[in-house]
Amino acid sequence: MKKIQPVRGTHDLFGDSYNKKFFIEKEASNLIDLYGYNEIETPILEYLDVFTNSLGVASDIVSKEMFTLTTSKGNQIALRPEGTAGVARAFVSNGLAQFLPLKLFYKGPMFRRERPQKGRLRQFHQIGIEYLGDNSFFADIEVISIANKFLHKLGLSEKFKLEINSLGDLESRESYTHDLKRFLKEKKKDLSYDSLMRLDKNPLRILDSKDKNDIKILSDAPVFSDYLNSPSKEFYTNLKLGLDDLGIEYIENPKLVRGLDYYCHTAFEFISNQIGSQGTILAGGRYDGLIQRMGGNSTSGVGWAAGIERLSLLIKTRILQNKTISIIFTSNKLLPKAFSLAEQLRSLDIKTDIIFSGNIKKQLKRANKVKSFAAIIVGEDELINNNIILKDLSDSSQKEIKIDNLIEEVKKIL
Ligand code: ATP
Ligand code: MG
Repeated sequence: MKKIQPVRGTHDLFGDSYNKKFFIEKEASNLIDLYGYNEIETPILEYLDVFTNSLGVASDIVSKEMFTLTTSKGNQIALRPEGTAGVARAFVSNGLAQFLPLKLFYKGPMFRRERPQKGRLRQFHQIGIEYLGDNSFFADIEVISIANKFLHKLGLSEKFKLEINSLGDLESRESYTHDLKRFLKEKKKDLSYDSLMRLDKNPLRILDSKDKNDIKILSDAPVFSDYLNSPSKEFYTNLKLGLDDLGIEYIENPKLVRGLDYYCHTAFEFISNQIGSQGTILAGGRYDGLIQRMGGNSTSGVGWAAGIERLSLLIKTRILQNKTISIIFTSNKLLPKAFSLAEQLRSLDIKTDIIFSGNIKKQLKRANKVKSFAAIIVGEDELINNNIILKDLSDSSQKEIKIDNLIEEVKKIL
């Protein structure tokens, strides 16, 4: 029979890929918790309107990347392509405005119908934070500093750079979009097909074009920063001063736009040059108009999302050190002793694996295979003197130790 394949662009997570995801999520939860953010879990399925109303019909995601289905009653439902819209919907549905300001954290699978390639999947995973109800640049500084800290915690210090830009407030954005459109209309015949399609509905997105000729045309285009009105300029300046004060390095990229309708003021991306062309590992910005688009009262927000699969490409397996210890016993009647030693170790948060079958040689082989750092051998002869053998599997050295000293000895080689 023909083997059943996974759906294109999806993949199974196990072994290293799962361990990396687990590590990334654990580091994120621990860190973000310290900043007072609470986790929220929203459904993977939402009404399609949640995304069309928020991301905008002209966004790449809504116009071509969504997985949708129609229920028997004719309702249109979508697999969520990102997390912020669902959080905003949940905020409105549950009347969370009374709890503002709110600091939220989420993680989970997202779905986009894109051409699968390295760092680009159809089912992928994101971690994100949202700071709702604070319209000051302080919130932007905080979320960016959390992102920065998070990437450092993952051991990626030398592997990324931060790019920032300001999209200004609505007034600034409208006047810029107007002039950008006028400029691009004059070059219409030279624009790429994709950019031409975006010209009327989503002209800002053209700034993000990867087409060589588009890039050439854009080098003479009007620049966003010249269109920021004074409150927008002030907001952006304060953000930069704040980042300077915290010693967070950034590069200003006037062409950085986020492809979604709901962004304003701050836009930022953390980019790695070590994983090929899908280099954006974490991206975000301010979205003061979003909650209103979702039917709530005007509420400001700023946040980011990071792609776990792209982060995983940067994380070395070696930092996922396996801290497991294996226990081996030489005869059936020593099983209770093996179990009680294992419980003792686990009660101290040491991962412990008892190996049940095979002779000692095979058992040691298996301990190496599961990448244990050490093995404890429980043997009848040693037990007479209340001793066991502790074998350091990194160099195969072993010694006989008193059971009472077990924890102390294990910690020495942990
Ligand atoms: P890109 O420009 O690479 O398409 P994006 O702007 O669509 O990215 P966002 O919507 O900002 O991405 O999502 C935030 C993060 O989620 C990205 O920086 C990336 O790490 C990750 N991500 C987005 N789409 C995918 C995908 N199809 N597969 C894997 N990770 C993804
Ligand atoms: Mg995309």
